[in-house]
Amino acid sequence: MSEIQEIVQHQKSLFRAGKTMTYTYRIHQLQKLKQMLERYEPRIYESLHKDLNKSSYEVLTTELGYLQQEINYAIKHLREWMQPKKVKTPTSHKGAKSLIYKQPYGVVLIISPWNYPLHLAIAPLIGAIAAGNTAVIKPSELTPYTSELIEEMIEETFEKKYLTVIQGDQEISQALLDQPFDYIFFTGSVPVGKIVMEKASQQLIPVTLELGGKSPCIVDHDAKLEYAARRIVWGKFLNAGQTCVAPDYLLVHQNVKEKLVQHLQKEIEKMYSPNPMESDEFTKIVNERHFDRLMAYLEEGNILYGGKSDRDNRLMNPTLMDAVDWDSKMMKDEIFGPILPILTYQELEEVYDHIEHSRNPLALYYFSENERKQEWITRNISFGGGCINDTVMHLGTNQLPFGGIGSSGIGKYHGKYSFDTFTHEKSVLKQTTAFDLAFRYPNSKVGRKIL
Ligand code: NAD
Repeated sequence: MSEIQEIVQHQKSLFRAGKTMTYTYRIHQLQKLKQMLERYEPRIYESLHKDLNKSSYEVLTTELGYLQQEINYAIKHLREWMQPKKVKTPTSHKGAKSLIYKQPYGVVLIISPWNYPLHLAIAPLIGAIAAGNTAVIKPSELTPYTSELIEEMIEETFEKKYLTVIQGDQEISQALLDQPFDYIFFTGSVPVGKIVMEKASQQLIPVTLELGGKSPCIVDHDAKLEYAARRIVWGKFLNAGQTCVAPDYLLVHQNVKEKLVQHLQKEIEKMYSPNPMESDEFTKIVNERHFDRLMAYLEEGNILYGGKSDRDNRLMNPTLMDAVDWDSKMMKDEIFGPILPILTYQELEEVYDHIEHSRNPLALYYFSENERKQEWITRNISFGGGCINDTVMHLGTNQLPFGGIGSSGIGKYHGKYSFDTFTHEKSVLKQTTAFDLAFRYPNSKVGRKIL
């Protein structure tokens, strides 16, 4: 038996023994996870800086802070989430009670990407633990310091037959996908998402796929441009644009483009200085392949602002571009870097066709003061989730489900939705034995009357 098979079998045994079923066990594990993150806080900052040059501001706001909030929320609500839910029973079932029991799936596999390497490995784990599962976590090989730290932290804090981290590249990932997991939670790119789903289908394993795509950001002529610019610059250049829900491109009403560009430049310099590459706090591009991919986009239009880069350190300054063609590579791929192409429109209806071009975006952002138009965009365009007059912030609330639609993903999580994702809702009808209803059986008088 391979080591991977052995780990999965051990976890299956622990799950079958019923250890994870109680409230006491689960709450204790969530508390341990919380303390683990507190204990390792300085090392977390250090490893994220080594891997991606992440600033302490970004580690706090987008990795650790988010996780602390999710764990606290799960701890507060776990007892209520675990209760069987009583629902109404139709009169045709008179005497019976209808209940939904919250059943954990069993042993789950979590595969995570590199861009928020701690957040995206641990956030689904919170849901998996709360729901009473055991888990194997496969972090990204592209952020070796953080993945190593995740393994060390989990190994030191939890029993291996309950939670295990397995590091490795796509080969290890594929070997894991051959195992008889009970649920697979994948965060990553669309092409790998397809592989995961294909593999899972062979064993009929349910999946959540948190994928990517091109998320448009629309700025209408009546938008408050100063706020729009500030919120766009923040959402786009956070993590050097390597955020699944970052505004991928701007669609600006042509009458306000010039003014918006001025505001964008001003905000970039206010938030990051005129040459952020010089600071030790601007996130770097994850590897050379991605760096070169981004450099090629710079050839596909006109650089309005920025464009400076440093290949040795894989750094690229925030860059604004225009004169970009819809058929260019940049407008076909997910940009996933600090380049913001700016395209214009005249009538809002045009926006619809343009967005259809990028198919089911993970996120959409619309800036306007007009509620009727806000409602039109929200109702008529298909996207995973998004904001009106803001960017990215919808991801940071545990009251809103987070996930894609179509090619940007399947399923959702965060807050209670994470618990639900890792829970099978088992319907149970408890029948009375005090009496019986004759009409449901063949040869009853009711049946004869109808005939
Ligand atoms: P990726 O798909 O290349 O890798 C993700 C994980 O899958 C890694 O752990 C990797 O080792 C593994 N993997 C890679 N190739 C594999 C294969 N052939 N078979 C099995 N496993 C394989 O993604 P990435 O480059 O790490 O992350 C960037 C992508 O993730 C972007 O598309 C981004 O939009 C998306 N993303 C989505 C979300 C979300 O919540 N929806 C969040 C972050 C990133």
